[in-house]
Amino acid sequence: MGKMENHFDVIIIGGGPAGLTAGIYLSRAKLSTLILNEGTIGGQMILTHEIANYPGFESISGYELARNIKSQAQKFGCKIRSNIKITSLDFTQEIKKVIINDEEVFTSYAVIIAMGGRSRTIGAPGEDKFKGKGISYCATCDGDFFQDKEIIVVGGGNSALEEAVSLTKYASKVTIVHQFDHFQALGHYVEEAKNNSKISFIMESEIIEFIGTEKLSSVKIQNQRTGEISEMSIDGVFIFIGYVPNTESLEGIVDLNKWKEIIVDKNLMTNVTGVYAAGDCIPKKFRQITTAVSDGTIAALNAAEFINNFKKQNENFVTS
Ligand SMILES: Cc1cc2nc3c(=O)[nH]c(=O)nc-3n(C[C@H](O)[C@H](O)[C@H](O)COP(=O)(O)OP(=O)(O)OC[C@H]3O[C@@H](n4cnc5c(N)ncnc54)[C@H](O)[C@@H]3O)c2cc1C
Repeated sequence: MGKMENHFDVIIIGGGPAGLTAGIYLSRAKLSTLILNEGTIGGQMILTHEIANYPGFESISGYELARNIKSQAQKFGCKIRSNIKITSLDFTQEIKKVIINDEEVFTSYAVIIAMGGRSRTIGAPGEDKFKGKGISYCATCDGDFFQDKEIIVVGGGNSALEEAVSLTKYASKVTIVHQFDHFQALGHYVEEAKNNSKISFIMESEIIEFIGTEKLSSVKIQNQRTGEISEMSIDGVFIFIGYVPNTESLEGIVDLNKWKEIIVDKNLMTNVTGVYAAGDCIPKKFRQITTAVSDGTIAALNAAEFINNFKKQNENFVTS
């Protein structure tokens, strides 16, 4: 094989905590490593103004934590390209090929997919503006910030009901707003919520607008049956209406489960040899920075082993 200009030992797709951590481990192991990230580096971390559950930092902004992890990866030689668009992926050969912006071709022996995901949003006016400023999609991350406050939980599935109960540890009052007249959650979650004196319910209703200046201060709620609209003062809104992995572009490239999460084995390898996946895009119950960082480590160490073996077995074949 001839020498290729854009060849790396490993390409990491996604520069959130999982991808950046993988970048630290692989570049520190002296493997040439490229991270390709669609948006601003840092992933979902940069959407939150305060992180209080990442070990070693009592409190740090998501932006600062992302910047620290990024510069740690770069210090070891990891190359990072942000704000790119991946336009083609070919994992059918031993040498994997990734094309960005329809023009630049990168190849590698191994790939780690760390494309993360996103919480399903309501899509009402003001939702984007108040994300992290009163609106949250994660009780474990943000519950503690709502000590003795009045909050709304949106949703009617297991997560919504379970998290509503867990949020009563902090909030003085939790109102569950649900679009239907019944819940989809399992019976025991519904019972527990109904038996909790801090929880009340607004059924057959949807939030149609989030209102505030710097922070969220109230919401407009519409009754789906009568059409009646009311405004409710509130300190925070937690939205649990589903999770979407960023895997739309991977259909037919690696195996996905019915929730569109990437199926991996215990080494975090996908069904394609040499292609690993890590972080929020794989099946898991708890989606946190610490769990993403853990996956990034495991995928990176397994990928490093895979690459070193590949190089040994193909000494006359490998690209320098
Ligand atoms: C508002 C908010 C607050 C949170 N607060 C906390 C907290 O306090 N503590 C905590 O532990 N967790 C928190 N979380 C959860 C935590 O941020 C995530 O679990 C974690 O970021 C997941 O890391 P990841 O690397 O797997 O994915 P992500 O962080 O989602 O990163 C994925 C990256 O891949 C990129 N990408 C996606 N598709 C492509 C593509 N096709 N090509 C190239 N790049 C792509 C994205 O742009 C992104 O940069 C919070 C989440 C949110 C939304």
